[in-house]
Amino acid sequence: MERRAFFKLIGAGAVIAAGGAMTACSSSGGLASPLAPASSTDEGPCVADDPEVSFSSEADVLVVGSGIAGLSAAMAPLEAHRSVMIVDKLELLGGESYSATGVMYVSGSALQKRAGIATTTEQAWDARKQAYADAGIVDLDFAKRLFTTAPEWVDHLVDDYGAQFEDPSDYVKAGASEGMLLPKRGLGDMESVMTPLRDGLSAKGASFSTGLVASAFVVDESGAVCGVRFRDAKSNAVTDVGARVVVVATGGFASSQPLVHANVPSQERIGCYTTASMGEGQLLCAHLGGQLADMNKPAPLTSDLPQAAAWGLFGPVLIVDALGRRFAREDDMNAAADACVADDRGYWWTVFGKGLSSGAQARSIAQVTTKNAKRMVGPFDDVEALAGGLGLPADALKATFDGYGALVDAGKDADFGRTAFLQKIEPPYYALKQFPVRYKTRGGVRTDAEGRLLNAAGSAIANVYACGSVAAGSVEGLATNGAFGLIVGRAVAKALDERDAEK
Ligand SMILES: Cc1cc2nc3c(=O)[nH]c(=O)nc-3n(C[C@H](O)[C@H](O)[C@H](O)COP(=O)(O)OP(=O)(O)OC[C@H]3O[C@@H](n4cnc5c(N)ncnc54)[C@H](O)[C@@H]3O)c2cc1C
Repeated sequence: MERRAFFKLIGAGAVIAAGGAMTACSSSGGLASPLAPASSTDEGPCVADDPEVSFSSEADVLVVGSGIAGLSAAMAPLEAHRSVMIVDKLELLGGESYSATGVMYVSGSALQKRAGIATTTEQAWDARKQAYADAGIVDLDFAKRLFTTAPEWVDHLVDDYGAQFEDPSDYVKAGASEGMLLPKRGLGDMESVMTPLRDGLSAKGASFSTGLVASAFVVDESGAVCGVRFRDAKSNAVTDVGARVVVVATGGFASSQPLVHANVPSQERIGCYTTASMGEGQLLCAHLGGQLADMNKPAPLTSDLPQAAAWGLFGPVLIVDALGRRFAREDDMNAAADACVADDRGYWWTVFGKGLSSGAQARSIAQVTTKNAKRMVGPFDDVEALAGGLGLPADALKATFDGYGALVDAGKDADFGRTAFLQKIEPPYYALKQFPVRYKTRGGVRTDAEGRLLNAAGSAIANVYACGSVAAGSVEGLATNGAFGLIVGRAVAKALDERDAEK
């Protein structure tokens, strides 16, 4: 156990464990704007009773956050026989990645090639690039690096960790995009990817701790980060972990009302789906002098029944608002929620029929509708009866069905640009009511191409890396964040080798 008085805590008070409350601290001890950048000497002195630093355990690499980015970052250092400790504030590992819907935009993986899909990553990049540019992502070079690393990440997960994905032929044959991967049992089954990954890391020697909230960086007398102070999520007791490298993989800030209020006020009145994405990593890194970027860019919204937002990617559905009008393309997980908020529509219905409930994602449909039976109406044999179930005038809904039917007959969605499953909905009809929610954020800490945390001058802060949704470069979701973790883990393993070679 190492106990030295000259260790300093940076960011203590930025994160307060007990009760999950979180604020940002100014150097005078008061509340600052959650975005206020801290100077590199700001020690965040809000917590007056911080005990002296005393490391109860040490590791070469300390990964804070056990979502897809953190677990993926642990792979390369473990494979290089480094000691790795992964710590999460929740009692369960996996973070928001574990409860995600599971649609992964990947092209060129061996899994896809085995399914007869010939599209290469490069060929797929053009379309993806356009989607990213449309979404306002600026650093397209780094986005491309993540996108092109994603197939390698998938192959590594499958070959070396036993992660299980669904055979893409299941849904591609039915007409879904060939640029998507799903976990083994389809939508809502991230367990099939993350549990083998966790177990594989454990078999390689990773140690895991849960229920510990990272609350400050520990720096040594030279000012270099050499560990992290954690607070027990229940008792607030202190645990200090020493590390040669710290990887911050604490996710986004969609659950933090103060951070959303400060950065994306246009979304502050929308409910949030997650509770754990509190932006602690962003605040801690800012206290260390790390630069934050792009946090004011609104992220897309989704349904409060997130899996249902993905159904249109895998089968025919029709989205209608409270007046029975179609208002967004159905083959996009964000379009309905975004349009619902933009036009103050309040909520929407996803209408589906036989073609969806007997298709490749039948498990998800059964699971979501059973769990949310009170949010569903149906079965109905005709549109008039469906309109009655939705409390709408039959004429209004009939006009929507007729208009949609004409688009299907024309083979082109001239209204909203839907391309997948532009097919008629076959009775019996069902409809599921949904509301828009925040579920992810854009922006975060700035890193270089290897994931090293950058300060305001653009220089790397020694010993600290970041990956996944905590970082400004995170781009999209599961696959890009997994690829980000892989890149960072490799960079960390290489940096440790180089450091040891210099000794
Ligand atoms: C409902 C839902 C559906 C989604 N569906 C999709 C989808 O279909 N496709 C897609 O690509 N993306 C999807 N996403 C987005 C995707 O889940 C995220 O982009 C991704 O999971 C982020 O991974 P991450 O590892 O960066 O963060 P997370 O998975 O959020 O992991 C961060 C971890 O850090 C821990 N942590 C946070 N603060 C601290 C602290 N102070 N100390 C210790 N630990 C801490 C958290 O508890 C958490 O376990 C979805 C998200 C949600 C919420």
